[in-house]
Amino acid sequence: MSKTIAILGAGFAGLPLAHYILKHYADKFDLKLVLVSRSEELYWNIAAPRAAIPGQFSDEEVFHAIPPAFAKYPANRFEFVHGSVVAWQPDSNTIGVVLHQGAERQINYHTLVIATGSDYSADMPWKLIGTSQETHAALDKLRSDVRKADSIVVGGGGPTGVEFAGELGHEYAKTGKKKVTLIISEPLPLGPRVQEATRMSAQKELEKLNVNIITDTRVTKITDSNAGGKVLELSRGDGTLETLHADLFTPTWGVKFNTSFAPASLRETDGRLKATQTLRSPGYDNVFLVGDCANKDSYAALVREKQVRYIASALGQYFKGVKLDDFVPESKVGMTVAIGPSRGVGDLFGFNVWSFFVWYFKGRHMCTNIAAEYVAGGKLILGSF
Ligand SMILES: Cc1cc2nc3c(=O)[nH]c(=O)nc-3n(C[C@H](O)[C@H](O)[C@H](O)COP(=O)(O)OP(=O)(O)OC[C@H]3O[C@@H](n4cnc5c(N)ncnc54)[C@H](O)[C@@H]3O)c2cc1C
Repeated sequence: MSKTIAILGAGFAGLPLAHYILKHYADKFDLKLVLVSRSEELYWNIAAPRAAIPGQFSDEEVFHAIPPAFAKYPANRFEFVHGSVVAWQPDSNTIGVVLHQGAERQINYHTLVIATGSDYSADMPWKLIGTSQETHAALDKLRSDVRKADSIVVGGGGPTGVEFAGELGHEYAKTGKKKVTLIISEPLPLGPRVQEATRMSAQKELEKLNVNIITDTRVTKITDSNAGGKVLELSRGDGTLETLHADLFTPTWGVKFNTSFAPASLRETDGRLKATQTLRSPGYDNVFLVGDCANKDSYAALVREKQVRYIASALGQYFKGVKLDDFVPESKVGMTVAIGPSRGVGDLFGFNVWSFFVWYFKGRHMCTNIAAEYVAGGKLILGSF
């Protein structure tokens, strides 16, 4: 009887690994792959900051159906399970799934790959919100809120906040159509791991688009305004408090890792799963971890795709029964941040890269040009797979 390998999560990490296993290992090692996902579509959330601007990307460009991309594999090798993983018993190799239709199902596995990634809090569609239908609805609502607002405040100076402020700046603030403010807790955007030169470039690019940046400030309270919109309480670095009115407030913080189904002993305090040097759960050599849910920084392609390639090759060693090579984490920051459709900043291998480079590789299309191929298998953002 075939061995069952279950992949939990069909996102940027789970999807390419599923194709890879089906192409390279399923017949060779007599495997049946069960891919479990609460969403039937891959949300190309890399494009989310632009997709949230009315009239930019269509839903067809950012949502891609998953089951048709696997129709080419025989039924004895592949099954798609549309549902949410709610329980995991690593000692008995079982997971519990609440299916999309409501019924419950238990799946026994020989080998498990956990790739359940992360979500954003406050129901912001920077990533999936539950099912893809719920995400379509949240994206539509955000577009409509953006359309109606005269003043928009973006909270958070990470890449999502900078990209969204850049899109708003390009579309509206540059020409004075709307007032756009970015609130960041540090003196410069993008966080301390990114080189100062790149952070300064981000600040300059945003200012060129008329984005007002409030630095060293935290949003400490959000209340509904009687005049509509929100009143934000801002706490400055020097301890003073101020208020700011926004027709629309869009937080970009609050990443949460999708690991609540895992035993607490296998999770870090931030919710990520503990991972060994071979990206496995401590004490469970048949459980592999990849992507945002694993305790290895995986924010961008440079890091995440390294993990995906590693797991692909490690699974070959594992099924052959040989010792696995250790994973060598990426030590350098790798980040490209589009600032509107025509400019960008980046920190790659210690270099503050040119705006043209970021525009060429990301900003002009937000990598939507490869999304369909990515879902069909054989492609990662950084090359073929
Ligand atoms: C706005 C934005 C822009 C970004 N831009 C870039 C970029 O330019 N380049 C880049 O490389 N990275 C970018 N990232 C980061 C990138 O999105 C993540 O690194 C990537 O999504 C992580 O992939 P993943 O497969 O680990 O998880 P995810 O993509 O989060 O996928 C998780 C999958 O698991 C499923 N799932 C979750 N919980 C359950 C459950 N309980 N049961 C069943 N299924 C479940 C989900 O439905 C989904 O299919 C960006 C992120 C954001 C927010």
